[in-house]
Amino acid sequence: MALTYTVLIALYGLIFGSFFNVVGLRVPQGESIVAPPSHCTACQRRLRWYELVPVLSWLVLRGRCRTCHARVSFLYPLIELGTALSVTVFWTRFGWSAEFVVGVLAISVFAVLSAADFAYHRIPDKILLPGIALLFAVRLWFHPLGVWSYIGGAILGYCLLYLIALVSRGGMGYGDVKLFVFVGLLVGVWGTLLTLVAASFIGTVVGLSMRAAGRLAPKQHVAFGPAICLAALAVSLYGDYAIHAYLQLFRL
Ligand SMILES: [Zn+2]
Repeated sequence: MALTYTVLIALYGLIFGSFFNVVGLRVPQGESIVAPPSHCTACQRRLRWYELVPVLSWLVLRGRCRTCHARVSFLYPLIELGTALSVTVFWTRFGWSAEFVVGVLAISVFAVLSAADFAYHRIPDKILLPGIALLFAVRLWFHPLGVWSYIGGAILGYCLLYLIALVSRGGMGYGDVKLFVFVGLLVGVWGTLLTLVAASFIGTVVGLSMRAAGRLAPKQHVAFGPAICLAALAVSLYGDYAIHAYLQLFRL
């Protein structure tokens, strides 16, 4: 029974991940998310159902349009797989619980923002601000660390990232600063600091390996948003272990 649930949750994750791609790629452009139906962005041909199966279609068609052979971004299967994997891990860690609900909310917002940040190098307010409002409302009702840890995390995250953005002179966008308000509400004060460290680490590793692979122009930046999202999810899953171990180290 547990396995059936896990498989169902993973499948839902794939389907919703596919929807989050559409939202993340269309909303920043001011396009409707229902019309026009899914089409190839190169030849405009409407896609058939078998070209829209999450991950599988992309693999079978080897990342190209069936008729015009234009490349289809690896972003689609990446967001689909990322969403499915994240909800499944949250499900196995927390089961049916308020933590799982908060996790699903965070994964949904992060998937849409990551798609937009990968594609356009910006984090759309139209998604982030309602996400912050919703998570704030949820935190007033469910706050295992105490409500002030989350509000403090949001304020700390905003101020810290604002300073880094000032010092880095354009190396970090204002979208990332606002994203840390959401992160603070998600993981609390200690979690916010841990997320910043983990996101910087992920961003550095990904940036250096892309540069080494020649996938990045000399002045081109890697989108930092997806690294923040990934780090925040890891911290909401396992951050309490890491923080506990760290505090033990200094006997705090
Ligand atoms: Zn095409």
